[in-house]
Amino acid sequence: MAKQTDKKDIQKMTIDYLNELYPNAECELNFSSAFELLVAVILSAQCTDARVNKVTPVLFKEYGTPQKLASARQEDIERIIYSCGFYHNKAKNLIACSKDIVEKYDGEVPGTLDKLQTLAGVGRKTANVVYSLWFKGDAIAVDTHVFRVSNRLAIATGKTPFEVEDKLMKAYKKADWSKLHYMLVLFGRYKCKAIKPECETCKLREFCKHYKSTLKQI
Ligand code: SF4
Repeated sequence: MAKQTDKKDIQKMTIDYLNELYPNAECELNFSSAFELLVAVILSAQCTDARVNKVTPVLFKEYGTPQKLASARQEDIERIIYSCGFYHNKAKNLIACSKDIVEKYDGEVPGTLDKLQTLAGVGRKTANVVYSLWFKGDAIAVDTHVFRVSNRLAIATGKTPFEVEDKLMKAYKKADWSKLHYMLVLFGRYKCKAIKPECETCKLREFCKHYKSTLKQI
């Protein structure tokens, strides 16, 4: 009888396949400081990185520091970031977050996960991206794509992003965490999409829990 593929094999096959598909996966947002990265990540919610990269040079020209953004008028920020979507909430959060940085952290973006999450509008995913990318901290940000793909393949299952994050960190080496995040995001965005994933051309389908459960329904 053929040996059943165990979880560790699937985790390894997944990262190998992702490396094959996306050998150069990395953050596509443009930034030159922790503050710029934080702002770009907040703007990137429900928006493409390419769009954010068009907006941030205009925003940073006038509001490139926490001090300047903290004292901006909301309507002025909304006008600049309008094309990123959810511009009302995003502008409100950017100003409130900048005020927190100025008032609580002397104008410097804090370098720990706990402190990053005390900033207005900064959830665990955003904190993880900034912590891992700028501060080189050990973290895997779990967004909607990472969460879906990890559960579908059962490489890290969980009902919450936090559970999935914890299991991914146990399953993979620290050195792989940052790139793994970006590869899973790309895979989820372009191949293992929420609706109509491209299973027929996916090399992992034989081992994929989601694919197998879909087959049973046909
Ligand atoms: S087989 Fe389909 S659902 Fe499974 S990982 Fe590949 S694309 Fe996603």
